[in-house]
Amino acid sequence: MTRTILYIEDDPASRRLIERMLKHAGYRVLLAERGLQGIDLARLERPDLILTDINLPDLSGHEIATTLRNDERFQDTPIVALTAQGHAAQDMAMAAGVTGFLTKPIDIEILLTQVKYYLEGGQDEIDSERLFSAQVRYTREVVARLEGRIRELESVNQELLKLDRMKETFIQITAHELRTPLTLVFGYHRLLEDHLTIKTLMDSDEGIKTLIYGMGEAVTRMQNMIEEILIMSRIITKKIDLSLSPTNLGNVMEGAIDYFHDSLSHRKIRIHFDKSIWPRQMQADTDLMRIVMINLLSNAIKYTPDDSDVFTLVSVDGENVRFSVLDTGIGINPDQHKRIFEQFHTVDDAKLHSTSKTTFMGGGLGLGLAMCKGIIEAHGGKIWVESLGRDLETYPGSQFVVVMPLIARRSLPKLT
Ligand code: ADP
Repeated sequence: MTRTILYIEDDPASRRLIERMLKHAGYRVLLAERGLQGIDLARLERPDLILTDINLPDLSGHEIATTLRNDERFQDTPIVALTAQGHAAQDMAMAAGVTGFLTKPIDIEILLTQVKYYLEGGQDEIDSERLFSAQVRYTREVVARLEGRIRELESVNQELLKLDRMKETFIQITAHELRTPLTLVFGYHRLLEDHLTIKTLMDSDEGIKTLIYGMGEAVTRMQNMIEEILIMSRIITKKIDLSLSPTNLGNVMEGAIDYFHDSLSHRKIRIHFDKSIWPRQMQADTDLMRIVMINLLSNAIKYTPDDSDVFTLVSVDGENVRFSVLDTGIGINPDQHKRIFEQFHTVDDAKLHSTSKTTFMGGGLGLGLAMCKGIIEAHGGKIWVESLGRDLETYPGSQFVVVMPLIARRSLPKLT
C-alpha cells in the first residue's frame, strides 16, 4: 500500500528536492507552502506522516504540531519537524508534540531511513527535565506570538475601518460632484427640446429626434445611477434617515407603474393592479417607498418576456401590510435567493448587461435589490423572494414579497 506523506515547506527548492526523493522512494507526496494550508490538507487527506519545516510565514511548525495533536484524528500520526541543529530547537519541537525531528541541512539517506522508522511507530525521546523546561519556554513563546498577532490584527482592523470611511467619503463626494454638472446638462437638454428651431428640426428629421431623445434618456439614466449610489452609501453607512409621513401606498404603486408606461406598452407587458385594495394610510418614507416599487417593477419587467403579465398583490394583516410583485419571467435559482439582495450582485456577468431598466434581460449595477432591502429594513420590515428556479423556456416566474409595519418608527440609536 502506498503511504502518503504531507510535506509543509515554504522554500521552493527544498520542496522540490524532498518531494523528488520521497516520490522516488515510492511515497505519495502532498505539498503545502503555509501552515494553515498544511493543516487543511492534513484534515482533508489524512496523510500517514506529516513532515514540517519550523519557520513558516503564518504558523510555525511547532504550532502546526500542537494544533494537529489536539485533534483526535491525529493523535497517533507521526509528525516530524525539520529543525536547526542543537538541543534547544529539538527540545522545543518535542514540547510542541512532534514524534521526532530531522536536522537541517537534510541528508537524504537519513531522511529516508528516519521516515521509515517513524512510519513504523518509531519515536524520538528526550529526558523529562529537558522536556519540562522546553514546555515552559514553548508556552511563553506561544503567548508572546499570540499577543503580537492580536496587536497586528488590531492595527490592520483600524486601518481597514479608516479605508472604509475614506471609501464612503469618496463615493459621497464623487456622486455629489457629478450630480451638479449633470443637472446642468439635464436643464440644457430641456431647453434644447423646447427650442423652436430644434422642435421644427425634430418634426422634420427623425434622426435628430432620436438623437435628442437618446440624449435625454442617457442623462436620466446617469442621474438615476448617481441617486442609487448615494442612497446605497447612506444605507451601507446606516445613515438612512427616514422622512416619515402619511403615505398612500396605492398612490405610490400607481405612480411607479406610470413611470414605466411607455416601456410597458412597447413590450406589451400587462401589470395587474387594483388600487382600491391597497392601504391608503400608512406611515412611511414616501420617496424611498417609491424607489422600492420602481426597482421591484423594473426587475419584473426586465426579467419577463414580451407579451406577458405581472401581478401586484396586497393584504393587510393586523399591524402589517404585505405586498408583492409577482412576475411570469425567467425565475431565480434557490441558491441565489439570498445573494441577489447583496450589493453589486448580479446573476449574470454585469458586463453583459445593458443599462436599460426595461429591456428584456437588461441589467443594472446590481444595487436595486440591496437598496430595497436597506429601505424596507429601515422601516422595520422584511423582503424576500420566492421562485422555483430559473428557466428561460418555461418561465417559472418570481415573487418578491415585502412585509412591513403600517406605522413605521424611526429606529432609535442602539445603546452599547
Ligand atoms: P440589477 O439592477 O442588476 O437588476 P438587482 O439588485 O435589482 O440588480 O437584482 C440583482 C439580480 O437579481 C439581477 O441581476 C437578476 O439576475 C436577479 N433578479 C432580480 N429580480 C429578478 C426577477 N424579477 N426575475 C429574475 N431575476 C431577477
